[in-house]
Amino acid sequence: MSNANEFPLQVKNIDVHYGDLKALFDVSIDIPKGGIVSIIGPNGAGKSTLMNTICGLNKPTKGEIVLNDKRIDGLQPNKIVRLGVSMAPEGSRVFQNMSVLENLLMGAYKHEARKKKDELLEKNFEFFPVLKEKANQLATFLSGGQRQMLAIARALMADPDIILCDEISLGIAPIIVKDIYQKIKEVNQAGITFLIVEQDVKRSLKHASYSYVLVKGRIVMNGISSELDEEEVKKAYFGVKYATPEPC
Ligand code: ATP
Repeated sequence: MSNANEFPLQVKNIDVHYGDLKALFDVSIDIPKGGIVSIIGPNGAGKSTLMNTICGLNKPTKGEIVLNDKRIDGLQPNKIVRLGVSMAPEGSRVFQNMSVLENLLMGAYKHEARKKKDELLEKNFEFFPVLKEKANQLATFLSGGQRQMLAIARALMADPDIILCDEISLGIAPIIVKDIYQKIKEVNQAGITFLIVEQDVKRSLKHASYSYVLVKGRIVMNGISSELDEEEVKKAYFGVKYATPEPC
């Protein structure tokens, strides 16, 4: 039986290399429909590599990425967007010298989204009223948190089923991060699935339904966030080796 209804996006045993450097080792993740899944890990763990591989910027050297029962690894990024997976980069990577509105319209470049861009825009302005207020301002004048919201809103303009969010809390004050997660929750409740990258263990366990810990290119722990123990996750995150239990 097909797994697509339960897990529309599955990463299956992928390796990713940059030349001779192996960045991901046999990584597998399942993203359930309607979930918020988080990848937690320290700097250099391979989080961005994983996101970029799902959206087609890197090609795995082993394994498969399956979206709704169809293999997408190796497809061009624009094809993957068309199939329903959209990337919200770090907020600092929105188009700074374009207005908020122009940034949003750039997100609706796929044919199907362009046809309903007014409806998508309206929906976005309901989620993010501040972007409506600032629609004609250059993105460079937004605060860090507003730029992060713009990145998510731009991803939404592609009318996706799944949004990949890279490092949403990078360089943003905790109080604003809270607002961004609140927005993600609202968008999620409207039916969009999220895969997010988070460096903060507590935040991941609080906001994501399922968390994976990625360290040095390997998944070292995963589980339903509410069932994971924060201290155990931190130990795994910081690479503390567990003592081998003494034989009874
Ligand atoms: P950070 O939080 O610091 O961005 P990350 O978890 O996103 O870290 P990646 O950026 O995916 O980690 O990097 C994983 C490994 O791959 C690192 O060793 C990094 O130096 C290497 N790497 C990333 N991008 C490239 C690239 N374009 N060419 C060569 N090596 C790369």
